[in-house]
Amino acid sequence: MTVDYTDLHDPNAEYTMRELSSETMGVTAERGGGRDVEITDVQTTMVDGNFPWTLVRVYTDAGIVGTGEAYWGAGVPELIERMKPFVVGENPLDIDRLFEHLVQKMSGEGSIEGVTVTAISGIELALHDLAGKILDVPAYQLLGGKYRDQVRVYCDCHTEEEADPEACADEAERVVEELGYDALKFDLDVPSGHEKDRANRHLRPGEIRHKAEIVEKVTERVEDRADVAFDCHWTFSGGSAKRLAAEIEDYDVWWLEDPVPPENLEVQEEVTKSTTTPITVGENRYRVTEERRLIENQAVDIIAPDLPKVGGMRETRKIADVANQYYVPVAMHNVSSPVATMASAHVATAIPNSLAVEYHSYELDWWSDLVEEEVISDGYIEIPEEPGLGLTLDLDTVEEHMVDGETLFDPAP
Ligand SMILES: [Mg+2]
Repeated sequence: MTVDYTDLHDPNAEYTMRELSSETMGVTAERGGGRDVEITDVQTTMVDGNFPWTLVRVYTDAGIVGTGEAYWGAGVPELIERMKPFVVGENPLDIDRLFEHLVQKMSGEGSIEGVTVTAISGIELALHDLAGKILDVPAYQLLGGKYRDQVRVYCDCHTEEEADPEACADEAERVVEELGYDALKFDLDVPSGHEKDRANRHLRPGEIRHKAEIVEKVTERVEDRADVAFDCHWTFSGGSAKRLAAEIEDYDVWWLEDPVPPENLEVQEEVTKSTTTPITVGENRYRVTEERRLIENQAVDIIAPDLPKVGGMRETRKIADVANQYYVPVAMHNVSSPVATMASAHVATAIPNSLAVEYHSYELDWWSDLVEEEVISDGYIEIPEEPGLGLTLDLDTVEEHMVDGETLFDPAP
């Protein structure tokens, strides 16, 4: 069932005292230099990747189309449809104001955290692609320019024998030597055979020894050829997390990710401060507000926002700015298609404290076919000089892998 929200909601209704539309703000759309542009439509198409990627397109009366992507999540396309009346008729170059406008308009529907922020992020990415194309500059230029020509990518690694330390080491060897990455991540919340209860967050001694053995085998196999991170997916108690982090201090661990749920900031802070193992958190936090608290309390050594989920390119830039004031590097979490991956790379080149951007799809042999341009090469992303994100969607590939029942975007002019 498709709901037409324009029938349910008058975009001009005065629901709030804080209106940021161009009409209420008195912002003129008339501008020189080809910048007199209005948004005419917003469309989404979901692609069945290793996650259900939500691609977003913003159309204009200038015939220029911006392409973005929202992190996957139930209801995200519907929320984007819901927001369409708030941006149609607006000038897409007013990215900050339109972001604030959407946050304010959607405040009753959860624009502080969760899928509403994700949906806003998808539109925000498309606005950067659009603004770059209108102004004829790459998106990173809108964010202040470059720190680097190439952005480092780390490869999330999997093996069917995820609990076998030697199998993990073999996979690390393969990814370094055959796929060309010098930065890797493995899951550490894998069964060890020593578990008595998978719900209580407590790690038994045999479990800690098993996890330390995975860390030992992988890091000693790759040695200086790659940096290796390990992910725990918010699994353990504070006490167990501290024991695990201490147990692996002697190995060359790039970072230990999400050993505890970060919602309880005091516990997160205590775990991080208890160990010399670098602790990374951030992929499930939203907007600068939530990420800021982790950074200000020094509850993280590395911050890991997910750009098409956390609030988009400018919000990630703001998080990186806060992190930089605390000398904290940024390792962007990313499970997206080439579109949001490239958006992450544009931000990563525009901030001083970028560590790496994640690639989470090496088992998907058509990931790179989604766009015409090469995105990742030898473990790095070369920052494109083309306008906007610098990508061209391959609509045949999009259509081939669309989620059942989806319709393809209208073609870009
Ligand atoms: Mg993670």
